Amino acid sequence: MTALILTYYSMNIDGNEYSNNDHVALSTDLRLLAALGWTITPLSTIVGAVIHRKLDPANKWVAITFDDGSWFDWYDLDHPTHGQQKSMANILRDFSQRHTGRSQPPIEATSFVIASPQARAQLEVTCMAGHRWWSDEWWPQAQHEGVIRIQNHSWDHNHISLDSTAVLHEKGRFSVVSTYQEADLDSICGAATSTIFAYPYGETSDFLVREYLPGHMLEHRLTAALTTKPEYVTNDSNRWLIPRFVCGCDWKSTEDLRTILQR
Ligand SMILES: [Zn+2]
Repeated sequence: MTALILTYYSMNIDGNEYSNNDHVALSTDLRLLAALGWTITPLSTIVGAVIHRKLDPANKWVAITFDDGSWFDWYDLDHPTHGQQKSMANILRDFSQRHTGRSQPPIEATSFVIASPQARAQLEVTCMAGHRWWSDEWWPQAQHEGVIRIQNHSWDHNHISLDSTAVLHEKGRFSVVSTYQEADLDSICGAATSTIFAYPYGETSDFLVREYLPGHMLEHRLTAALTTKPEYVTNDSNRWLIPRFVCGCDWKSTEDLRTILQR
């Protein structure tokens, strides 16, 4: 083993138990990680070490990531069915207050957000019952504070429920991205500030992995891309296919996570 990337979905709130609420799972998992001597490490540090083949097996490094970038990442919210939910940011801040010190540097997690404001506005209606909890005004504040870094989860996720998407055919999947025009987010978003990409649905495409991402680095300025293949990150990991484990999918309890951590 060398390093590990864990993924949570802050919108996964179907109750208030570990098994159905990623906020409960994250706060429980942070305690387990600390107890077992893992260091919460910025994703960019792990990615940099992979690129330079300098991951040290002696370090127990784990990066925390969130996908889709809703308000549940950043704001405490009153969930219509399951009550008050502490944001992922506040869960990290609480953990940080107790644990930051010599062995645990300041906490930095990463949120992979959907860039298009129009797509998020429509997804608020189709996926969030009209609650206006997917806007982006918290991104600069998060970047400034550093507890959650903002990174790239595509322009519009090619989400099935959108009227139209940047991908020209077949919504609801990402592996269909096959042309420069579909992959070139900068032409739509303007100058990109993100350096790490997370494939929507965890779906890679050969075009992105073999051609677009390695071949156009000066344009997109990305340095790495994350899948959802549940494996450890090693010095042999392909920077465009960096694996990560997903809460609720690859582990569903503290015992499951403990098994992964002790592999
Ligand atoms: Zn997603």
